[in-house]
Amino acid sequence: MKVLKFGSSSLGTIGTINRLENVLGIIQRAAKKDQVAIVVSAFQNVTNQLIKMGQQAQDNNPTWEENFHELHDRHLEIIKKFIPPQKQTPVISHVKKKLNELEDVLRGISLIQEYSPSTVDFVMSFGERLSAFIIAQILTNRSRKAFYVDAREVIATDDKYGNARVNLPKTYRQIKAHLKSKKGIPVMTGFIGTSADGKTTTIGRSGSDYSAGILGAALNAKAVEIWTDVDGVMSADPSRVKDAFVINKMSYKEAMELTHFGAKVVHPRTMGPLMRKNIPIIIKNTFSPDGAGTIISQESSDHVVVGISVVDHVTLMNIEGSGMVGVPGIAERLFKALAQHEINVILITQASSEHSICFAIQEDDEKEAQKAIEKEFALEMHVGHVNPLQIVRHLSILAAVGCSMSGRMGTAGTLFRALGENGVNVIAIAQGLSELNISFIVKRSDAKIALNIVHQAFFLSKQKHVHLFCVGTGTIGGELLDQVQAQQKKLKEELNIDLRVMALANSKKMILSERPLSLNNWRGKLDKAKGEMDIYRFVEQMKELKKTHTIFADCTASSAICDVYEQVLGA
Ligand code: ASP
Ligand code: MG
Repeated sequence: MKVLKFGSSSLGTIGTINRLENVLGIIQRAAKKDQVAIVVSAFQNVTNQLIKMGQQAQDNNPTWEENFHELHDRHLEIIKKFIPPQKQTPVISHVKKKLNELEDVLRGISLIQEYSPSTVDFVMSFGERLSAFIIAQILTNRSRKAFYVDAREVIATDDKYGNARVNLPKTYRQIKAHLKSKKGIPVMTGFIGTSADGKTTTIGRSGSDYSAGILGAALNAKAVEIWTDVDGVMSADPSRVKDAFVINKMSYKEAMELTHFGAKVVHPRTMGPLMRKNIPIIIKNTFSPDGAGTIISQESSDHVVVGISVVDHVTLMNIEGSGMVGVPGIAERLFKALAQHEINVILITQASSEHSICFAIQEDDEKEAQKAIEKEFALEMHVGHVNPLQIVRHLSILAAVGCSMSGRMGTAGTLFRALGENGVNVIAIAQGLSELNISFIVKRSDAKIALNIVHQAFFLSKQKHVHLFCVGTGTIGGELLDQVQAQQKKLKEELNIDLRVMALANSKKMILSERPLSLNNWRGKLDKAKGEMDIYRFVEQMKELKKTHTIFADCTASSAICDVYEQVLGA
């Protein structure tokens, strides 16, 4: 038995390439080899639309009706496209019944202008209830008998709407009982469950992965496949690190740590139920199903660091004062005050002098946190035993994650040396005893370069990227560039140095580029370049590119260039 979960990006139906067709193909192929159970998200973007419609209804904004009709038609179109006309009637009538119910709920919201958390969950549940039902019907019509499973009948949760906790033992029992005597492929709704008093709940945005994990654990599946729109878990966010690549295997713990820290490929709670039963998770790309993907199991990655993730929009708070040294209970009071206001603390450091405690929170929580702390320590602050709260804004947290970091000396050394050599200032550091994660805080404007530096230090340590910015292309500069061109290949292949020329300038023109310049006919290119030479702009742009291992070569005899040395060295 295998569980296959398809996310909403795999369930897009707009445009010429029909993604749903890929999904059906994957299910049909898998069903030839194994018994399968399917978990699906809502069709693409439906959850967001549902939330929005509810808000519009609450605001008495009539646009909700238009949006409802759009949603209505989209679902019917899918049925018309994938189910033969003579078989459509019962499916359409069932789906219309569900949609009518949704319309009634939205109208109710607009009448009483109330959109409580439990109603939000109920409204959101329609997305998965529609997609799972329709997909079960399509499969059945393609001669793979399938049946719809409304997860509200099996997934038992508490009543924390929007982010409900699942009662796993009860849920496992219910799943087994529910599926016991049924034949065919179960197609279960992701994301939703029921509270003890029978109300619809949801288990957190992107929670369908977790639903699949639960189903896999309940059925003792041999694997849970998460089908998404990327090739697997990447070493870093590819939109920020050009050299990021897919990590082929990692342990549950590594995956949990990475996903907690912003890698969005799989929901962090997915790992829990499967880890206990040693069931592997395989992340696969619906759009290139033959790729190896990422396997998450007991086995750790071969890399010391498996991934580097970033959390942006972080604020750091520091509380300190003479009245804190050796006084027990300060940390307790601080974090209790934050917990009471439901403020999530992302990172904590306290130096052993006990003089200060420093912690990071999401930017949005700042005001609330400040109020809570100033209230809690009002007395100490009044008499000066605790200083006014220090707040540092516009920060990012980076985390390097990997099981093999534990007990291996020098990992932190490598990391912080690389940052130091490239002039990135580290504002705070935390490493837990598990040594699974080294987290550190930098200015938000340094996040991209820091990410690239750390990525290079761990993943590409065999090859060093060196970035050359060359001013002056006369006799000396020209010879330098010609020699670089002649040697580039050899440097790369024999010495593992990738010497990249990023900028050229003479007294008239300049070229600066995000990507390495090819030196073929560089003289001609510079002649034809649009950019007029301006050394101040050159330096500004060079700084903005935020490249690692940067060399600035002045091949001129001009004192105007010397004027910027200080600025260049400062950067
Ligand atoms: N449809 C839900 C969401 O958009 C759950 C999921 O897709 O995993 O958050
Ligand atoms: Mg997802």
